[in-house]
Amino acid sequence: MSSSARRGQLFVVSAPSGAGKTTVVEGLIAATAGVRRSRSYTSRRARPGETDGVDYHFVSRPRFEAMIAGGQFLEWAEYAGNLYGTAVVDTERELEAGADLVLVIDVQGARQVRRHRPSSVLVFVLPPSAAVLEARLRNRGEESEADIGRRLEAARGEVRAVAEYDYVVVNDAV
Ligand code: 5GP
Repeated sequence: MSSSARRGQLFVVSAPSGAGKTTVVEGLIAATAGVRRSRSYTSRRARPGETDGVDYHFVSRPRFEAMIAGGQFLEWAEYAGNLYGTAVVDTERELEAGADLVLVIDVQGARQVRRHRPSSVLVFVLPPSAAVLEARLRNRGEESEADIGRRLEAARGEVRAVAEYDYVVVNDAV
């Protein structure tokens, strides 16, 4: 690292799916120069409208597992039956270049980042209520009933971790 360059700050944003974190983070990035969003790897299939290399790096489960074995992830987790992770090299490239980086990741991943990078700032986005969360998940119309059930179950567990975060944002705007 060049001694004169400022190293970027790492931010973690977590929220149950349906809390509207994508909208919050995209609003933040549009409004703030020098902040970038990290692109995760996942073994889940792309939803309609998602693009490989834009929304995620979509990879097979065996490829993901090989990356775990190779120590390539800063953090990774299994969420609702799929694997998700942040590659160390991607993160380092951005931070070294001085960009502030936002990782939009689950609670398990956030804990790993806190452990490995204690100077990270952790933000939790909450929906206004459980009923609003469920309605948002259904309105997306992208998931099966079983998927929605898995995501609601995961959400109940995640919300309990809110006290581990530095900041809480209630998103009642979308
Ligand atoms: P989705 O399938 O809705 O895109 O994401 C499901 C969950 O996985 C969300 O909570 C999302 O924030 C989380 N997630 C996405 N990328 C990563 C990642 O790289 N690591 C971890 N730990 N969670 C991730």
